[in-house]
Amino acid sequence: MRVRFAPSPTGYLHIGGARTLFFNWLMARHFGGTLVLRIEDTDRQRSTAESERMILDDIMRLDLQADEGPFRQSERLAIYQEYIEKLLIEDKAYYCYCTDEVLEEKKQRAIALKRPPHYDGHCAKLTERSAGPAVVRFRTPQKAYVLEDQVAGRVQFPAGMMGDFVLMRSDGSPVYTFCCVVDDHLMRMTHVVRAAEHVTNTVRQLMLYEAFGWQAPTFAHMALVLGQDRQKLSKRSGDVSVREYLDKGYLPEALLNFLYFLGFTPAGGTRLSGHPEILTREEMIASFDSKHFHASPAVFDLAKLRWMNGFYIQKMPLAELCQRVGNSDPLWVRKMASIRGDASTLEDLPRLVEEVYGDVGLSDEARLLLEPCAKALMDGFEGLLVSRHDLTEEEAQKIFKQLASTLGMQGKAFYLPLRALITGVLHGPELRVIASIRGPQWLRSRINHIRQVLL
Ligand code: GLU
Repeated sequence: MRVRFAPSPTGYLHIGGARTLFFNWLMARHFGGTLVLRIEDTDRQRSTAESERMILDDIMRLDLQADEGPFRQSERLAIYQEYIEKLLIEDKAYYCYCTDEVLEEKKQRAIALKRPPHYDGHCAKLTERSAGPAVVRFRTPQKAYVLEDQVAGRVQFPAGMMGDFVLMRSDGSPVYTFCCVVDDHLMRMTHVVRAAEHVTNTVRQLMLYEAFGWQAPTFAHMALVLGQDRQKLSKRSGDVSVREYLDKGYLPEALLNFLYFLGFTPAGGTRLSGHPEILTREEMIASFDSKHFHASPAVFDLAKLRWMNGFYIQKMPLAELCQRVGNSDPLWVRKMASIRGDASTLEDLPRLVEEVYGDVGLSDEARLLLEPCAKALMDGFEGLLVSRHDLTEEEAQKIFKQLASTLGMQGKAFYLPLRALITGVLHGPELRVIASIRGPQWLRSRINHIRQVLL
């Protein structure tokens, strides 16, 4: 098996593109095949080096490197030229001198007459090569084509659906459809797995395979990824670039785990994680099966991605998590460990640490709960903290128990006001953890502060 990922460097790596890359990578890994990376940059107007650099970087961050490549189509122009010549010599292609203006005018006329806006074949019968700018057009066979797609099933293309399409622009640059066929053939692709939007290109490609007498690869066109608004995923429906997610603290492994279910449902089974939808890379490779891609579009569910990412953050070894956020200060790490259960992204970690361990105030609802028992609670707590310099979690727990029994309070009726006192809010990490991290000195000054606020 040989598969490829063939991005056009005309922007960043899109969520849909990452899914295509990942599924090709999985094909190669599952079936012991080879993944080729090909940069489709023959469109000089739209391709940029910057975009190529970003895409390569994103691929590295996702750790989905190819086995061969990157090959750049812009460096293979002589090869395409050779195959264009071949089609010209065999009269399967011809030069067309129609100007853009004339073509546009004809197109509008065809649309007005409710005819298919195909090229009308004006230059198809010319036998001499004239001077002046010309494109090369393919002489489209007027017959029906059938695509046996692994996902979409049998797709029929009736005869006459396609006009004579352009293979090479007047500036000499060959177009995507053409280069794609030449490369997929020369690079010996056995399977082409790509987005559903390429189905219409495929009929052109089938014609080209036939014209060259080459065998076409097996095609699998993956159903679209939709935004939550059920429209094709686009900037409108939220972030669409992989880079934005990674920069915002989504973990590559969580993102890939999420993409895995966006178009494919693996058979159930025991997972290392204990959760049916959280798979290690090895589990994903093992349970991958290209025959079970979803035929209907998948919806990008951000809430699910956030949940998955949170799951990974909670399960990751602490040392590794510190490395990812780039902070290994021991006190900060303790704080972070106490709040990581509430984090959905890496970005949440410093924010939550600050929220819980920064300058805390006293929320209205916390105040309401604390007020009735504030004096007794603070006096008792302060008494138990006297002359202490530090506080382990166990010691803190002991003190809480003692305090509760002295005050004759228990359960929530005790812990909520205590939480209000220490944290200023009614939710958060375990109180004994917070108390231990804060330490007796801080707790005493907090009590003093709240005394001034309340009493
Ligand atoms: N360059 C095309 C794209 O980025 C690739 C299509 C294909 O995989 O054949 O959409």
